[in-house]
Amino acid sequence: MCGIFGVRGHPAAAELVQLGLYSLQHRGQESSGIVTVDDTSRAHAVRAMGLVSEGLDVGELRGLAGSTGIGHTRYSTAGSSVLANAQPVVASVRGGAVALAHNGNLTNAAELRQELEDSGAIFSSTMDSEVIVHRIARSRAERPEERLAEALQGVEGAYSLLVLLGDTLLAARDPRGWRPLVMGTLGDSVVFGSESCALDIVGAQAVREVEPGEIVVVDREGVRTGARLTAKEQHRCVFEYVYFARPDSRVFGGSVDRARRELGRRLAREHPTPGADLVFSVPDSSNSAALGYAEESGLPYELALIRNHYVGRTFIQPTQGARDAKVRVKYNAVREVLQGKRVVMVDDSIVRGTTTRGLVAMVRAAGAKEVHMRVSSAPVTGPCYYGIDTPTREELIAANYTTPEIAAHLGVDTLGYLSLDGMLESVPDGPHGFCHACFSGDYPTAPPTDPEKLRAGCGC
Ligand code: 5GP
Ligand code: SF4
Ligand code: MG
Repeated sequence: MCGIFGVRGHPAAAELVQLGLYSLQHRGQESSGIVTVDDTSRAHAVRAMGLVSEGLDVGELRGLAGSTGIGHTRYSTAGSSVLANAQPVVASVRGGAVALAHNGNLTNAAELRQELEDSGAIFSSTMDSEVIVHRIARSRAERPEERLAEALQGVEGAYSLLVLLGDTLLAARDPRGWRPLVMGTLGDSVVFGSESCALDIVGAQAVREVEPGEIVVVDREGVRTGARLTAKEQHRCVFEYVYFARPDSRVFGGSVDRARRELGRRLAREHPTPGADLVFSVPDSSNSAALGYAEESGLPYELALIRNHYVGRTFIQPTQGARDAKVRVKYNAVREVLQGKRVVMVDDSIVRGTTTRGLVAMVRAAGAKEVHMRVSSAPVTGPCYYGIDTPTREELIAANYTTPEIAAHLGVDTLGYLSLDGMLESVPDGPHGFCHACFSGDYPTAPPTDPEKLRAGCGC
């Protein structure tokens, strides 16, 4: 997964993009980058491994001249943690520079790349996103929006894109609308961000989402819809509401906080816990859902787990055998809250089950008498091919075990997952028009021919 941000027509474009990326850091921590274009349509780029605060400091920004810029934060994916895969992708094409920032995964990137390589294209990264840049370069169309629309014909899968072509800024979403992309204004300038929290941080006003299949153009003449791709049934990622986006954001036109509260309330109705003493969350991702559960059930909301916010990616992995050490570095339990209590532990999702198992052991060690696990999403039974780095089916606990087996493995007294319908009915504008493939197995596209290659080359 990744975060993207862009602005056109602001004297401090690079600083604005940097700020936007700070608030999208949760969408990607592996690398980040900013590209600006100046008055002469020359591109200036900085890309670095690590967090925005590590790689894109003030000194780095000094060379980024121009009033138009785009930026990207990249999520860690297996086998591809190299600077060559940091975005935005920059290249030189007919008419000047092109830069591209992509959130999502293309599902037919391998085939498209093969076609391009067979006709002589030379790739400089393993990212799926680079395919789009090559296709822009080959387009014979004149206007930037036509070049992008032509490049995107036949490209399958998930993409929210920001593209600089000369001094034109383009924003596009795939026709199924998998990933969010919000458009806003800041004075006379136009800004885009993966989530509305990125607009808030720069003081911009959110206007609307870029629509699925829409290409928005921002150039000297202003802002307008430049093209529309062939319409398809919408498949917005429900996991954005469940886990990925920040609760202070609006995505897909709805509030993430409201979505998570409702997921929690619905969970409380589907899986009540009579006789429990209190509810707590696994901070931070399930805070809002746990609040919803507490509101609906009437149980007190407590802070039973405390998260250390300073554990970075540089944290050295514990040795084999110290299975729970990783969990202990990130979380600690509050004995005074848990001692002798029958507790409801709410989390947004269970993926592998390893973190959850460690946390349950910790909660018990702190004196909890009963642990009732409640999950504000349906069981994750399949991988995601559309931009979220979920593991293979073999590693997904719910793909291989029944709910009672999972409960036993986690060491909880009871386990309740929200139903698929309950999940889809809880999110704004649900239940239709959402992707739920990793929960239901209902994949809207053919899976990529080589999913492992996709994981390694994901430019999301
Ligand atoms: P598990 O018990 O499956 O090892 O971990 C569950 C936890 O992982 C939950 O707290 C959930 O919020 C978190 N989680 C779910 N999806 C992702 C993801 O894509 N990346 C990361 N880092 N955490 C995730
Ligand atoms: Fe979202 Fe799951 Fe669909 Fe991936 S498969 S886009 S995580 S709902
Ligand atoms: Mg979590």
